Amino acid sequence: MSHKCEAIVVHCMDYRLQSYINNWLEANFAAGSYDRAVMAGGVYDVYDVIRQVDISARLHGISKVVLINHEDCGMYGPGVTEDRHDDDLDKAEDKIRRLFPHLEVDTYYLKLDGTFERNS
Ligand SMILES: [Zn+2]
Repeated sequence: MSHKCEAIVVHCMDYRLQSYINNWLEANFAAGSYDRAVMAGGVYDVYDVIRQVDISARLHGISKVVLINHEDCGMYGPGVTEDRHDDDLDKAEDKIRRLFPHLEVDTYYLKLDGTFERNS
């Protein structure tokens, strides 16, 4: 592996969240220390997410996966609760941990006001 980074960050494409995510990444990670996978729905399609994590692990030797879902996500449709997002984040985390036991996985629920809630 010729070049490495710390993490892959997976989040939705929704334009409303991008400046919040940019600021949060700047505050929490060293510049240029992460891959970024922008997927409609965040972890909505977990196999797309796994594919990106696999590539990031093979090419860049990451040690951490950061998964961010958000409030009022169009991929989930209207009326979807935070519980549903928390469930999906937990399931995605479990799958990734099973496939990539050496990776740390952190999950977050991002509110439309820009608040990041750590999901556990
Ligand atoms: Zn979304």
